[in-house]
Amino acid sequence: MPTSRPALSYDVFVAPSKLAKAPPPRVGDPPAWDPITSTLISGARDAVLVDALMTVREATALADWIELHDRRLTTIYITHGHGDHYSGLSVVLDRFPDARAVATAGTVEQMRNGSTTAHPYRAWFPGQIPDTIALAEPLDAGHFDLEGLPLEVIETGHTDTVDSTSLYVPDLSLVVSGDVAYNHCHMYVGATTAGSRAEWIAALDKLAALHPAAVVTGHKDPTQGNPPTVLAESRGYIEYYGKLREAALTDQDLFDAMVSRYPDWVSRQQSLILG
Ligand SMILES: [Zn+2]
Repeated sequence: MPTSRPALSYDVFVAPSKLAKAPPPRVGDPPAWDPITSTLISGARDAVLVDALMTVREATALADWIELHDRRLTTIYITHGHGDHYSGLSVVLDRFPDARAVATAGTVEQMRNGSTTAHPYRAWFPGQIPDTIALAEPLDAGHFDLEGLPLEVIETGHTDTVDSTSLYVPDLSLVVSGDVAYNHCHMYVGATTAGSRAEWIAALDKLAALHPAAVVTGHKDPTQGNPPTVLAESRGYIEYYGKLREAALTDQDLFDAMVSRYPDWVSRQQSLILG
């Protein structure tokens, strides 16, 4: 009897945390960007990349890593319109000119807004952000395919930004969550409101209802795997943060409470927790 093996596989590239050129924060670690992930989903011949990192060096290393997989990169899917997940896109497209970069119409709109205003990451990472910021094309459906197998876009609304999405790969029982969930990494909750936190929690519940076997988050502690428990952990983080915000703590007390509740999580950044 022939042994069956899954038609698809996936692999995760993590760009490590990097120091940022920014004034010292009032609280927490020296300014740095949290580790960012890209996910490669491979079939027998073709592959799809999810998100394209931020700096020239990261995107160059990512392109080298993609080449090691010996697949034809057909598609690059961008989960949401935050520049740390797509500023490297032009570098990846230079290396894989036949790949098509796609995103939802909402994400493309966010990308367009972000690239017409002064790029917020250039001051923090001088000389490291590509000169050309490539945009994705809007998808005309809520799914696309890899060698005939479906990849489904999950619209998740306002999470750590508006019009965010995740990508669901039924054949792998895999969710690539973008920034809807974080993995043992302090979350970008500083800019949330009670309303946006409720929407974020609903998005996490929507992903949990898929009962994925694995969840790759947009930001993670590189020492962690990709377990689905990150969905409940992210939900708990947002709920706890919401309770503290309602208690009207000082910034220092709020920051200290989050760090002591999550002592092992990476990126104790004022810019994430306090906004
Ligand atoms: Zn992000």
